[in-house]
Amino acid sequence: MSARLILHPGKERSLFKRHPWVFDTSVARLAGHARPGNTVTVCDAHGTPLAKAAFSPHSKIRARVWSFDPGAIIDHAFFKRRIAQAVARRMALPGLARQQGLRLIHAESDGLPGVIADRYADTVVVQLNSAGAEKWRDAIVAGLVQATGCARVYERSDADVRTLEGLPPLAGWRYGEAPSGGIIIEEHGVRYIVDIVAGHKTGFYLDQRDNRHLAAALANGKRALNCFCYTGGFTLQALAGGAASVLSIDSSQPALEQALANLALNPHLQAARAQWRCANVFDELRALKSAGESFDLIILDPPKFAPSASHAPAAARAYKDINLLGFKLLAPGGLMMTFSCSGGIGIELFQKIVAGSALDAGRTARIVKRLQGAADHPVALAFPEGEYLKGLLVQAD
Ligand code: SAH
Repeated sequence: MSARLILHPGKERSLFKRHPWVFDTSVARLAGHARPGNTVTVCDAHGTPLAKAAFSPHSKIRARVWSFDPGAIIDHAFFKRRIAQAVARRMALPGLARQQGLRLIHAESDGLPGVIADRYADTVVVQLNSAGAEKWRDAIVAGLVQATGCARVYERSDADVRTLEGLPPLAGWRYGEAPSGGIIIEEHGVRYIVDIVAGHKTGFYLDQRDNRHLAAALANGKRALNCFCYTGGFTLQALAGGAASVLSIDSSQPALEQALANLALNPHLQAARAQWRCANVFDELRALKSAGESFDLIILDPPKFAPSASHAPAAARAYKDINLLGFKLLAPGGLMMTFSCSGGIGIELFQKIVAGSALDAGRTARIVKRLQGAADHPVALAFPEGEYLKGLLVQAD
């Protein structure tokens, strides 16, 4: 029988709302023995079983719920089922089945806390971010192979959150072998090389797929500016959409080199219309303003300035600055796609920041569309923390 995690009185309420996290402050005691990642039965203060969860003794999130059925058996078959369901949900949504780059498992929102899995063509990259996920590595890899028929699975468990779980970074092939060539995906008619070993996240920002496509739709004939361009995701789509020019800025030389390689992979794009600059966006935008430049379409997709709520004040200033500079460079009637992928900054706060930037820049602007992660990055209604990527498409007078 699994050990029991007994909660303080009243602390079972979040479980009734199907929120999958049990914080250390909610736990009265552990009855029995459990090692990191072991399955425990979460019980209310009277000992009534409520859920089956993975035990994380080193984390403030002391347990993550696998199932809200306290009688559920957490075994290989459980993971096989949950993974098959996650894949089936995506196949049932329009447009996702044909994507070569697709998020298959989005952790808590797919009922698999701590598990991320992305498919790039016939390679799956899995990220195990919790003690529970770590414990079930073999079952998760087997479930992914079975649900997708992929040729290989690479583990890329190097996210910072593992430290909080007391887990070391880990990477390597878990099924099949490294492919002989590079991994390439096509997204909306543009080909990208995906560096699953050294690229950001699992190699690519799949969450921005729809927004990159929107950038293509907005770009025709425009002078575009892509800030924090990474490997050229938005840049290449803007070119595909017929942009007159695209200036792309990133502070990472390797990212820009990868962007050039991506461009070379797409001979149908007008490479001569792309300009690349290795620079700090904050400095470069000021320099562009001083030089009297302006743009019709600006994309601001900065890194996560606020990984958690405690970083929010400093992050808010950074978002304010970057958007202020964006508004100053936006031509009359121009469009700006502005994003935050900070979990610690909610959509309301982000909108306030952008409004403040427009005001300080002396611009009148309106939201013409709210932007979010693509449908393969769903947000469970019971788990609003899952919503990290938010954006606004604004149009300025
Ligand atoms: N829009 C991209 C993802 C952006 S990731 C896509 O769709 O693929 C954020 C990028 O910002 C990284 O490439 C990082 O190198 C870059 N970066 C972070 N801080 C920066 C700064 N101050 N100036 C310029 N680039 C920066």
